Amino acid sequence: MSEVPLEASIPAESNGHTNGHANGHSNGTSKVPRAPPSGIKVIVVGAGFGGLTAAIECHRQGHDVEIYESFKELKALGDIISFGANAGRIFRQWHYAAGDRVSDRLRPLSIDLRKHGFRIHKWTGEFIIKQETPEQDPTAPVFNGHRGELHTVVFEYARDELGIPIHLGSRIQKYFETEKDAGIILEDGEKVTADLVIGSDGVRSKARELVLGYFDKPKPSGYAVFRAWFPNTDMIKDPRTKHFCENGDTFNGWIGPDVHFLFSTIKNGSDCCWVLTHRDDNDIEESWSLPGKMEDVYKVIEGWDPLCKAIVEKTPSVVDWKLVYRDPLPRWISDNGRIALAGDSAHPFLPTSAQGATQAMEDGVTIAYCLRKAGKDNIPAALRSFQDIRYDRVKAVQKTGETTRDMWHKADWDKVKTNPEAIQMPREDWIHGYDAEKDTAEKFPETFQKFIVAAA
Ligand SMILES: Cc1cc2nc3c(=O)[nH]c(=O)nc-3n(C[C@H](O)[C@H](O)[C@H](O)COP(=O)(O)OP(=O)(O)OC[C@H]3O[C@@H](n4cnc5c(N)ncnc54)[C@H](O)[C@@H]3O)c2cc1C
Repeated sequence: MSEVPLEASIPAESNGHTNGHANGHSNGTSKVPRAPPSGIKVIVVGAGFGGLTAAIECHRQGHDVEIYESFKELKALGDIISFGANAGRIFRQWHYAAGDRVSDRLRPLSIDLRKHGFRIHKWTGEFIIKQETPEQDPTAPVFNGHRGELHTVVFEYARDELGIPIHLGSRIQKYFETEKDAGIILEDGEKVTADLVIGSDGVRSKARELVLGYFDKPKPSGYAVFRAWFPNTDMIKDPRTKHFCENGDTFNGWIGPDVHFLFSTIKNGSDCCWVLTHRDDNDIEESWSLPGKMEDVYKVIEGWDPLCKAIVEKTPSVVDWKLVYRDPLPRWISDNGRIALAGDSAHPFLPTSAQGATQAMEDGVTIAYCLRKAGKDNIPAALRSFQDIRYDRVKAVQKTGETTRDMWHKADWDKVKTNPEAIQMPREDWIHGYDAEKDTAEKFPETFQKFIVAAA
């Protein structure tokens, strides 16, 4: 986000040292400055990175926000997740009253590849190239770490530092809207009404059904990913693998026809993590937690660099995540303009884009900003502006998941030999250099005008 305050109301670089709220108001016990109250009441469904960011940004922009989440208690679930510099700009904007930032607390949980870089191999074991890790831009840091650990930091920031109410164990059964308001109905029948609802309820979204008016069935992508995260205990006992854990963090990739294996060691080599993306045409079940079978993993890497097998042998268990695909949705906003889809519910990503969580975060920044500028009387135009500002960018970033995967899986190794850089992980400035709040501020006036005129 911009270092220059875009809104007179929010001190964008305020460090939260003040106990008072000269420019803002507090919610509950929060001592972190925020914009004056907008009078807009927001329900956010889902406390993933998308929902939490939407809520934190709504809070910053002065809206009155509450989160409803189906899980009953916070658990550190998942394994490796990536946040690009375009997410780092957002994390860095979130301060604690004590003066530090959310990004400061994410840093020690994340991989540090300044020394090791990304070492890319052919599946046979032949070393191809070391892709150097660029120096971190302190205003836009990059984070890769355990999803559950990073999620806990952000969840606790929203709940404990900002005082945003998070209702756990609240599974939403239905969404509704009128011309004047919108709301949710919980499993126990409780009805909650607000000015708008943000449905950041993930890939199996119920909010999506309301917005589209039909069930959007996922398609198989033709791929699945075996995933694992485990302590380095057995790795450091084996002379073939101990070097991955002894000298800081590492990141290695092995690329083969229609398969890639990425292995990292994190938190000074103490944790190990790998993902193995491979062809899979089985029937699909969208889940982050389906257990996989080790014998299936060994089949995929049969004949590969023996180092891959040496790593897999140390793995206690594996998750089998079927990658599903959805065509871009025709719209993210409901008929009356009071329910918005955000994050995975609007646009699921392939992991090879490494941008799913980051794009979910950008959504939250844009929604909260549009609401503030539009005001309580213009919520449909605010949400339609959000979609308009975000849609083409998200679609283009989604596409990079396919292009990177195909670049690896269909590599012509003779060509790679003459130009090894061609196999490197793309780092494109139009993706990572993006400042969600700045871009929204630039595009909002014209976009909003379009929807206000249309509504008149
Ligand atoms: C348990 C879990 C583990 C994950 N592990 C990884 C990982 O290891 N690596 C990775 O790259 N990505 C992982 N992801 C996905 C990743 O976090 C998202 O792709 C990305 O962060 C975008 O987040 P999101 O907030 O849009 O969706 P999500 O992170 O999926 O969050 C959606 C939230 O909505 C809640 N929800 C769903 N339906 C309802 C309902 N009816 N009522 C109330 N709440 C509801 C869910 O419980 C969930 O917390 C995981 C997601 C989950 C839920």
